[in-house]
Amino acid sequence: MTAFWTEPDYDDHEIVHVVRDRKRGLMAIIAVHSSHLGPGAGGTRFWHYPDPKDGLRDALRLSRGMSYKNAMAGLPLGGGKAVILADDKRTKTPELLAAFGDAVEGLGGKYVTAEDVGISEADMVAVSKRTAHVSGLPVTGDDAAGGDPGPFTAMGIYLGIKAAVRHKLGKDSVEGVHVAVQGIGSVGGGVAKLLAKDGAKLTVADIDQSRAVALAEELGGRSVDADAILSTPCDVLSPNALGAILDENSIAKLDTAIVAGGANNQLARAHHGKTLFDRGILFAPDYVINAGGIISVATEYLARRDGKEANVQAVHDRIATIPARLEQIWDASDSTNTPPDIVADRMAQDLIGRG
Ligand code: NAD
Repeated sequence: MTAFWTEPDYDDHEIVHVVRDRKRGLMAIIAVHSSHLGPGAGGTRFWHYPDPKDGLRDALRLSRGMSYKNAMAGLPLGGGKAVILADDKRTKTPELLAAFGDAVEGLGGKYVTAEDVGISEADMVAVSKRTAHVSGLPVTGDDAAGGDPGPFTAMGIYLGIKAAVRHKLGKDSVEGVHVAVQGIGSVGGGVAKLLAKDGAKLTVADIDQSRAVALAEELGGRSVDADAILSTPCDVLSPNALGAILDENSIAKLDTAIVAGGANNQLARAHHGKTLFDRGILFAPDYVINAGGIISVATEYLARRDGKEANVQAVHDRIATIPARLEQIWDASDSTNTPPDIVADRMAQDLIGRG
């Protein structure tokens, strides 16, 4: 692997820790971008990278993203991310997870882990046998914070869409507002259901088309082919599938006033925020609107660390601040004629002492 500090995504990361435990089959990279606001928190990705350099890039890029997301959510946490470089068969053993737990413990609380792509709640339970610096563990009671972050992420996006509709369309309700939802999994499905209760007009799409047809039927909406959703005429496009979906081609085809959804890293490249802005489309920066999940995970971890019970109401209270943060970004964007993603990045950099 080349020196990490020559990577374009290296941004003065405080820790780039490479873990090799041959005996227990672990190869991992743990990156902490900033601990200015607290321990670096962010999930663990378990993925096979034919070129390990791509794993390093993911760890660098994703840990910086977590610094911004945690800061903008007002959490006392920095940004971190771990990437486990899986073999081509994606072999995951109890020994590998134990070795990973030991590596997290070895950082003495500078990095706090949770689930990400390829890592389940059960995996985190295994990791938690070796370290206390872990979150996203099963919940114990109805009022306890924690568990699957998807519904919390969906709630934040729903509130963010309502704020966007107020800001851009001057409407206090989403009744009759047409929302096109791309990807109806844990997050997108939750967003669609919340909007349906308020009488929004829904068009949904998923690469699993039968899922989209069933949800449309359940909610009284319409489904379209996955490749038709981005150009569907609507008031709000809510991307909740994969990242990098907004580029020159797709932005030219958009027929919406607002883009507000949970998928991470929706802009294919940084300058595509300006392309959206120049087309007059209001963009909700993804790491601001999709912070509901990390708010839940963080509330759970911080309470346990302090020997307290984490209550789900505290999670909802903080998620309720997402619209105000978005308003702040859009107001600054309007008054300075600057794309909202750039405004958000600058705010986040200020909050982590890198402005
Ligand atoms: P998920 O796997 O439950 O759902 C994703 C859905 O998108 C699936 O139904 C999949 O079939 C569909 N999909 C994939 N490619 C598609 C395409 N090209 N067109 C239409 N549909 C497509 O995942 P999720 O947890 O709902 O996460 C969705 C997005 O939100 C991801 O980008 C994730 O990184 C991001 N996110 C999730 C959380 C969370 O709490 N789960 C938090 C922050 C961000």
